[in-house]
Amino acid sequence: MDEEIEIINTNTRVEKLKNFLISKRKQLITSLILIILILITFFGYQEFKSSSKEKLANKFNSIVTNFETGKKENINNSLIEIINTKDKTYSPLAFFFLLDNDLITSSDEINSYFDLLINEVSLEKEIKNLTIYKKGLFNSEFVQENELLNILNPVIKSEDILPKSDWYKKFEKYWEPSEQKARENLDNFVNKSILNYGVNRDFPSIKGTSLLSPYIRNGQINVGDIWQKCKKLKSNNVSIKKYTNEIGWREFSHSLINYFPQMLKGNLRKEFDKFPWVNNSKFLNAWKKGMTGYPIVDAGMRELYETGWMHNRIRMVVGSFLVKHLRINWKEGEKYFRNCLLDFNEANNVAQWQWVAGCGADAAPYFRIFNPILQGEKFDKQGDYVKKWVPELSKVPPKYIHKPWEMEKKYQEAINTIIGSSYPMPIVVHEKARADALSAFQSIKKKN
Ligand SMILES: Cc1cc2nc3c(=O)[nH]c(=O)nc-3n(C[C@H](O)[C@H](O)[C@H](O)COP(=O)(O)OP(=O)(O)OC[C@H]3O[C@@H](n4cnc5c(N)ncnc54)[C@H](O)[C@@H]3O)c2cc1C
Repeated sequence: MDEEIEIINTNTRVEKLKNFLISKRKQLITSLILIILILITFFGYQEFKSSSKEKLANKFNSIVTNFETGKKENINNSLIEIINTKDKTYSPLAFFFLLDNDLITSSDEINSYFDLLINEVSLEKEIKNLTIYKKGLFNSEFVQENELLNILNPVIKSEDILPKSDWYKKFEKYWEPSEQKARENLDNFVNKSILNYGVNRDFPSIKGTSLLSPYIRNGQINVGDIWQKCKKLKSNNVSIKKYTNEIGWREFSHSLINYFPQMLKGNLRKEFDKFPWVNNSKFLNAWKKGMTGYPIVDAGMRELYETGWMHNRIRMVVGSFLVKHLRINWKEGEKYFRNCLLDFNEANNVAQWQWVAGCGADAAPYFRIFNPILQGEKFDKQGDYVKKWVPELSKVPPKYIHKPWEMEKKYQEAINTIIGSSYPMPIVVHEKARADALSAFQSIKKKN
């Protein structure tokens, strides 16, 4: 009997344990399902959030691109749509874009967007700026300029805008930026060099030009004053005329851009829109770094990077090399010059690059292709300019300085200048590059 009771008790315990386990398993499964559901919802939401942010960013970017390329239809509406979306990331940008480009002008409209943004943008800092900006716009007596600056200053700190490294310091070796120095340079040039300008201006190793362009660019001297100073010489000397002509070319570039502002964005000669430019970042970088293997080109590019200025003759040579030998769009060269030149001005730079490429007004025809070897031999016969900027060629004799790859191997070893190792081999062969450029040019002629 005792045994039977024992068996029943054991069975009941087993049964209970089984039930207990089953109920725990159910709970576990339910919890797992719940956790999975929560995870799916969370990641799905994140995905949705980031993809909608991305979409918004893309939309904003495409609007800005359309605006820049002149396609302005419906931009207003799209920007307003961005301002009205729930995600406010791009709202302030969209608002300022509308404002900066005079797409919204009435103060009522501006006010209503401000209110919309201020109500919805959560960032406290942003709200503060917008409020102050708004007050500054509509009630300048209420918010003094100083007060505005004080509030904006902590947000736009000068150290955030200035370059992090002091690479610009090197320019102090070459330039002294002041009105006084500009006047001094002009006096020196007019008293000592102007009469030889006509000849010396083409030789990059001679200080034969006025070197006034950075001062003109930065407003430290006025072209009108330069002109008057030259006129006071009361001379018919060809060099003086040549010099004032150059000042005239500057005016020409500015009036070109004034009458044909579309030049800032593209070719003045529309047939060049079909030119088969080559995308080659390796060649472009070699050009920028002064590592093309053509010494006169490399010297120019290194002078530019080091001093923020490049001799005019060499600007033409490096420009021609980029657009003709490498067939890279002139806009790449224009962009790089814009970043490096201390005398950069939009009108001269764009007009001159289009002159070089053959697609501008009064342009050098595309088939006029500067030969970098002959240009070097003509304007830097002894190689002084090349040796200054490409010191790895300092032991190369004048005969080979513009074509160092032609030196015999034994000789390269003797002077410890191995072409292909101490200095690069040419990245393109002149004759082939010239032929390719001409046939590319023929192709756009046929299309027209
Ligand atoms: C591809 C390329 C890009 C250029 N980009 C610029 C630029 O961004 N800014 C700029 O000022 N010049 C530019 N130039 C023109 C010219 O090279 C420089 O004006 C000149 O080298 C400046 O040196 P400088 O003051 O000693 O000239 P100088 O020979 O002493 O000439 C006196 C002034 O005349 C004007 N001038 C001279 N040559 C030209 C020219 N060809 N076209 C228009 N104006 C000229 C400049 O204001 C110059 O300062 C560019 C030329 C080329 C080929």
